[in-house]
Amino acid sequence: MKTRPVLDGMLPYNPPRLGEEISVDCGSKEYVKLTMNELSFGPLPEAREAIIESLSRAGRYPDRDSGPLRAAIASANPGVAHENVIVGNGSSEVLVDLMQTLERPGEVIIPWPSFPFYVSSANVVGLRVRKVELDANHKADLDAMLSAVTDETRAVILCNPNNPSGTYHPLSEVRAFAGALPDDVLLILDEAYYEFVEDPLYEGSHELALESENIVSSRTFSKVHGLAAFRVGYGIASAKLADYVWRAHVPFSVNQAGQAAATASMRQPEAIAERASLMKRERVRVQEAFGEAGLEYVPSHTNFVMVGTGPKVFEKTGVLVREGEALGYPVGWSRVTIGGPEENDRLLAALSG
Ligand code: PMP
Repeated sequence: MKTRPVLDGMLPYNPPRLGEEISVDCGSKEYVKLTMNELSFGPLPEAREAIIESLSRAGRYPDRDSGPLRAAIASANPGVAHENVIVGNGSSEVLVDLMQTLERPGEVIIPWPSFPFYVSSANVVGLRVRKVELDANHKADLDAMLSAVTDETRAVILCNPNNPSGTYHPLSEVRAFAGALPDDVLLILDEAYYEFVEDPLYEGSHELALESENIVSSRTFSKVHGLAAFRVGYGIASAKLADYVWRAHVPFSVNQAGQAAATASMRQPEAIAERASLMKRERVRVQEAFGEAGLEYVPSHTNFVMVGTGPKVFEKTGVLVREGEALGYPVGWSRVTIGGPEENDRLLAALSG
């Protein structure tokens, strides 16, 4: 069999303590899993009910058009219509679908460190990746990213706020950045964590996406909505770009239970905002404790914090966090997901004594 050489240099996603992480997913209380920026307390009650109700339709293919889900997303984002919404099997699939629309060969520019899947997914679809280092404040260096654009550039991804640094750019800066990009370059604004940003100047970028054929905002139900297992993400884009994405999309990839749960969750903005507030309060508590323990950390605007100590420290109380080197940071850094209050108690207990 002739396989593609690009795959020879790649490994499947395989974190070092996968067995322990899976044991937590299966209900073990031996460890606390703060590795994947999930919301450990899961879906809203309305979403749980929708999942159960969807079982009666499990013998049928899901709604190929994701009609009710796209309608719920549209009505939660002023100015957005059904034809502006794309959905995917997680925002991971939205990213892949977007990349599949781009001419190849070509290059994707990303900040670095950032979400490692940008690199593997671009390479798999046949695009090269150019990494632009974060600035001294751990923020995406927008000027350097603009300078990196060439005739080969097909897309620029701005992870805003950025995983794993937790830093962000306000909409005014994103708008200026978008305006400076050539019209034939796709700008992907990955807003997987946008619900956790407090600064009113941040603002989600969906209105900007509607103004231009080469901008898309992508978001997910895996984080604040607590639906990571159901794999639903979405993008907001011009009708023209959305139409191209649907051509590249695997039919029926967003399962029926996920569609139902995400629709129900999207219709509860107050409950979602409450959860985001809880995570923000817990983030303050965790960061203050890091500071008191003399640890360096990057002030975060997400549900995780990059901290200047290795994962071993937290293993003392059975807490699993992601090692920095898996994410492009040096050895001796970790990315710590903000958990529920009791999980964070256990995390912080590792710092005392
Ligand atoms: N973008 C960013 C920045 C992420 O951190 C993640 C998940 N960790 C995703 C996208 C993908 O999430 P999902 O596929 O679950 O929507």
